Amino acid sequence: MLARRPLLADTPRPMAIRLLPEDVASQVAAGEVVERPASVVKELVENSLDAGAKRIEVTIRRGGASYIRVVDDGSGMDRDDALLCLERHATSKIRTGLDLAAIMTLGFRGEALPSIASVSRFRLTTRPHDALAGTEVAVAGGKIEHVRDSGEAPGTQIEVRSLFYNLPGRRKFLRTEATETSHVAHQLQLQAIGHPGAGFVFVNDDAVVYQAPPAGSLLERIRDLCGAAMAEQLLEVPGFAADGIGIRGYIGKPGVSRATRAQELVFLNGRAVENSGIYFALREAYHTALMKGRHPVTFLVIDMDPAAVDVNVHPAKREVRFRDPAALREAVVESVRKTIETGRAGWSPNARAEPPPLPPPAKTFPAQAAPPLIDEKEQVVLRRDWSLLPRQDIPPAPAPAVTADPPPAGGFKILGVLGKLYILMENASGLVLVDQHAAHERILFEELRRRMEDQGVPAQRLLIPFTIQSTPRDSDWITQNLATLTKMGIGIEPFGAGVHKIDALPQFIRAGDPQQFLRDVIEELRGVSSQSSKMRLGEDVIATTVCRHAVKANDYLREPELVRLIQDLMACELPYCCPHGRPTLIQISYADLEKKFGRKP
Ligand code: ADP
Ligand code: MG
Repeated sequence: MLARRPLLADTPRPMAIRLLPEDVASQVAAGEVVERPASVVKELVENSLDAGAKRIEVTIRRGGASYIRVVDDGSGMDRDDALLCLERHATSKIRTGLDLAAIMTLGFRGEALPSIASVSRFRLTTRPHDALAGTEVAVAGGKIEHVRDSGEAPGTQIEVRSLFYNLPGRRKFLRTEATETSHVAHQLQLQAIGHPGAGFVFVNDDAVVYQAPPAGSLLERIRDLCGAAMAEQLLEVPGFAADGIGIRGYIGKPGVSRATRAQELVFLNGRAVENSGIYFALREAYHTALMKGRHPVTFLVIDMDPAAVDVNVHPAKREVRFRDPAALREAVVESVRKTIETGRAGWSPNARAEPPPLPPPAKTFPAQAAPPLIDEKEQVVLRRDWSLLPRQDIPPAPAPAVTADPPPAGGFKILGVLGKLYILMENASGLVLVDQHAAHERILFEELRRRMEDQGVPAQRLLIPFTIQSTPRDSDWITQNLATLTKMGIGIEPFGAGVHKIDALPQFIRAGDPQQFLRDVIEELRGVSSQSSKMRLGEDVIATTVCRHAVKANDYLREPELVRLIQDLMACELPYCCPHGRPTLIQISYADLEKKFGRKP
């Protein structure tokens, strides 16, 4: 049997309130700012950048847990400041509460240095450029051990040893050295890309990982840090400005994507930020150029009035709030979408500047030995399913030449068909593989969308209307967007609480599962900001749905049909990926081949 607890002892009593000793308070604050070695590197490098450094050298050992050093050639500090900067809430970057409303610097909280110094063995050496000598301050676990003159070069050097040595609980949370190192590397990469004008050196366990000189441009910096192959996969976002928002940078070509957000980089006034609204806008802008569940590659640089954004949301300053998130989203969508649409002209993902001097393939393969284009026995005539649309109203677009001779610049020569699915082609850069069905889908999709844009979406009355029941949230959304849905050829009206009646669907939709189709439409459209985007996205959903039904597997094409398919594909707005974001074309350049055959290291 349970003993009954005495009533009196149960009564809560007030507990004595005490102010925390300064070092404990710092450790508490450190818990928010200093999560792992990468956060130390972030704070120190931000300080260097705020101090106007043009060269920043970061050295770590054993993932940063045992040693971190950041050396800069920035303004440096005199002795008074070198001591003051270790006090909590000591900062040179803001003075009044008003300044907080428009932060121009990366730091402003005055918490990083005291926090770091309270959880490590810390040494600061600093010297202003016009001073004869510098100052060295050593701190351990928040307590100053010594202050003395030092003869280091002008600038600031901070060493952080034995991170969390006095917080064993925290230290236990650190991951393997390799993981912590990769966090540091990522953090530093963000800073270096956000500030191409500063030079960065990264040394890990006594090996130089990279030495990025001050770069003339963002692209140069991307090339230095992420490699030339990455730079070639990017489109430049031409400078865009509206409503005091500037957008520029580089984004992955359609079809370029990643499984994580690790390369979806967004910089706001020089600060790497994570913001779901911006991510959403990017997804909306890419739309069919991005596979479901994948993330785009971006180096998006947003510049805006610091008063229009609040960076004082999160101690690590990664999250931000915008005064007008809708305007920003529109700006991102518009600039990125334009970039993707105009970027098609330069398709050639792996094209090298100068084609390698290889003999033309025609000499290596005599004409009669060339593989047959198609397997005659198994061949069936393709039902051009996309002829469900009248083709005559589509003006013939200028397409690159498809010939039997060596390909002219920008043209293709069809070599054959692999596995009855992949069309092999040669272009000036090397080999091009085309996924026949993905190509097919893209062509059909664009024809359909063009028709909808010209003539609206024809609706088809249903013989038997049906109803859908939705959650209150979905139902509200539908009610507010009836006009848009109607324009998309969906006849829909309220039919009681949470229920809508559907009596017409877009003509092209084969009503296999109209309920599911509607749910797809609603899900796609719900997050979209503007009415015009909604309409366009709606058309895309309809067109992708139609394509999914219309394109068949295992269609064998005769040569003229192959030529036609390639011409139609290259005339598309976005020829290089299907409406679901999968690639239609893959380039394997001569350089890639040379590498594979070991001709080049
Ligand atoms: P915050 O950056 O938020 O001001 P910190 O604790 O990071 O707070 O730094 C405190 C102050 O120390 C800064 O405001 C700046 O004046 C000075 N400081 C820190 N690091 C450097 C540096 N590398 N070079 C020059 N001054 C620095
Ligand atoms: Mg700082």
